[in-house]
Amino acid sequence: MTQLDPNRLRTWIAEHIGEIIDVRHEIHAHPELGFDTPLTVHALRTPLVAAGLTPVDFPGGIYVDIGDPGEQPRVGLRADIDALPLPETTDLPWASVFEGRSHACGHDVHAAVALGAALALASQPALPGAVRVIFQPAEETLGGARTVVEQGILDPLEQVFALHCEPHAEVGVLGTRLGAITSACDYLEIRLRGSGGHTARPHLTADIINAMGRVVTELPAMLSRRCDPRAGMSMVFGSAHAGVAANAIPAEGTLTGTLRVLSMDEWRGAEKLVREIVESVVAGTGASLEMDYEPGVPPVHNDVESHLVLRHAMASVVGESSVYTPEQSLGGEDFAWYGEKTKIALGRLGVRRPGTPITDLHQGGFVADDAAIEIGIATLAHAAVGALATSER
Ligand SMILES: [Zn+2]
Ligand SMILES: [Zn+2]
Repeated sequence: MTQLDPNRLRTWIAEHIGEIIDVRHEIHAHPELGFDTPLTVHALRTPLVAAGLTPVDFPGGIYVDIGDPGEQPRVGLRADIDALPLPETTDLPWASVFEGRSHACGHDVHAAVALGAALALASQPALPGAVRVIFQPAEETLGGARTVVEQGILDPLEQVFALHCEPHAEVGVLGTRLGAITSACDYLEIRLRGSGGHTARPHLTADIINAMGRVVTELPAMLSRRCDPRAGMSMVFGSAHAGVAANAIPAEGTLTGTLRVLSMDEWRGAEKLVREIVESVVAGTGASLEMDYEPGVPPVHNDVESHLVLRHAMASVVGESSVYTPEQSLGGEDFAWYGEKTKIALGRLGVRRPGTPITDLHQGGFVADDAAIEIGIATLAHAAVGALATSER
């Protein structure tokens, strides 16, 4: 058998969706941060073990293999499971019971969808290969994906699929795009120093505020000339601090900002380019320079083959006319690191209940409708089997 049995999948979902939604509510009510996710992992492990599966622990998360135990898994499904340090402002009966924390990015939905997909696939009589379902912590704090890579969890996998909640799309709508679907975001801190002095005698010290002004205007301007304009590179400073008195040149000033870029190629060269430009601008001012450049995540780059598999899976669940091509987001997503090891495709899962107002991700009032979960389960199950079928040996 190389195809999923759609009737069997539908029946499984109809019979079990209530239990999966209960797990979603349990996780939503108990949001956990970063790698510190024991309650979430417990809520996921229990139904997997009850179904006779053998989840494997790794720091902050678990993964489980579905299919013939003698076979190496070739296809992966990934859910992130961590929450945000944001107070929840909904009045849901299953709202967060932990003060100052919430599932405002919908990772409770991702966890439930992947759990449902794992159990639904396990109920299929003969899969055309094994599937690994990964429940990853620490997406928001950006360490989880790297841990999954470092633990070797992706080593046997040829393709991995993931969905992210999309509050701008209604339940029943799914989206994905070829190539980059999220962006890179890096952090920059620049510290300039001089001896400080009287504003009457700027020639006896380095004029720190003048130097900062040059960096703030020259860096974005030079980047726009040195980098392909199609890369959408955007350097924006979010803070500038120096000085206290009108007639004293400060001895120190600090600038911080973010660099966002749509293109993977330009992202790879961004740090070197930024350092080069800042060093050359500051060199003429006489100030001394310290720079911290922290690379965040690269863009998630959807692979040609995996994108087709995911799109086909989406169309078979909601129909071609309900699958759209989203704009590339300027947000970051650490699933991108999986793409350094294997082919990946990330999709958008519409979660807004029709007729309700849009509540955005990372807002305390964000609500994802339970009705999106069964659509997510069916999509990931179809994608997994579709990928196994296309790469059959
Ligand atoms: Zn988020
Ligand atoms: Zn998220």
